[in-house]
Amino acid sequence: MILTITMNPSVDISYPLNKLIINDINRVSNVKKTAGGKGLNVTRGIKFSNISVLASGIIGGTTGNYIQKQLDEDNIDYDFYITKQESRNCIAILHEGNQTEILESGPVLDSQDANLFLKHYQTLLEKADLVTISGSLPQGFPIDFYVSLIEQADRYQTPVLLDSSGKMLHATLISEHKPYLIKPNKEELKQVIQMDIDDSDNSSLIKALNHPLLNDIPFIIISLGKKGAFARCHDQFYQVTIPKINVVNPVGSGDVTLAGLAVSLHEGESIDGMLKRAMTMGMLNTMESQTGFVNMSNYDQYYQQVKVKKY
Ligand code: ADP
Repeated sequence: MILTITMNPSVDISYPLNKLIINDINRVSNVKKTAGGKGLNVTRGIKFSNISVLASGIIGGTTGNYIQKQLDEDNIDYDFYITKQESRNCIAILHEGNQTEILESGPVLDSQDANLFLKHYQTLLEKADLVTISGSLPQGFPIDFYVSLIEQADRYQTPVLLDSSGKMLHATLISEHKPYLIKPNKEELKQVIQMDIDDSDNSSLIKALNHPLLNDIPFIIISLGKKGAFARCHDQFYQVTIPKINVVNPVGSGDVTLAGLAVSLHEGESIDGMLKRAMTMGMLNTMESQTGFVNMSNYDQYYQQVKVKKY
């Protein structure tokens, strides 16, 4: 089973409006509410691939109940640590071709919650073959909390795939408990290695991947949006190119890409197969209006068009 961790899930609310009128009433009828957070998109991506998956993290309050209800409707198994504090809402107002977002920061938790979650997580690790960790931490948690999650997984020799950024990612790279795989996009990688990257120049990508901070990470997949990806898997570099497609909504494609990577490692596929699966999943997500969704009936058609070249 693959265990997915979302430490700060949300109810994502979208309000489509013809026009956003400031300082007046805006009435909206076609409201959509979904269980959100990067790790829950990963969970859906894995579920679409028909692999057993369990979602965990921290939720609370009526918003937390709503998240569970939504996951029930999608037939997704979950086992969250429940706090008394309310999980967050994230609002996207879609108006005049724009997306204006209002994102709650979420609950402020303390070291007691952190310790109780770690205990809960340990019980889940006993049944997990692989762990994915996505997104940011709740307010009040130490910046190196993901190091603690990786350290515990190391005790079970369970690989951890990490999709995070900034200080949270950096803390794991300087720790002795490192992720097995990371999937930064170009901006996230630039920020963490403090180096410019030209994604049209393979030597610039290779230079970035050779940065000392990234030593000892077996799999680094830099996702490059419509340009596909560039990766270092063990000591080999790979350029992955994808076809031009009709993008409807790219939000969550990085998450579904991580789902593809997790499924592939879980199934013991070749590196070539892993990179192709991950790119195909990312592309399929961009073709759907709903974040974190894919239409698997298009899978083979796009998979065949992904090209992997060794460097
Ligand atoms: P993130 O969402 O983490 O920023 P990316 O934008 O790099 O990640 O997208 C992840 C993957 O999704 C890409 O590697 C690619 O396979 C697919 N993808 C994203 N945007 C596009 C696009 N505009 N056209 C085609 N595929 C895309």
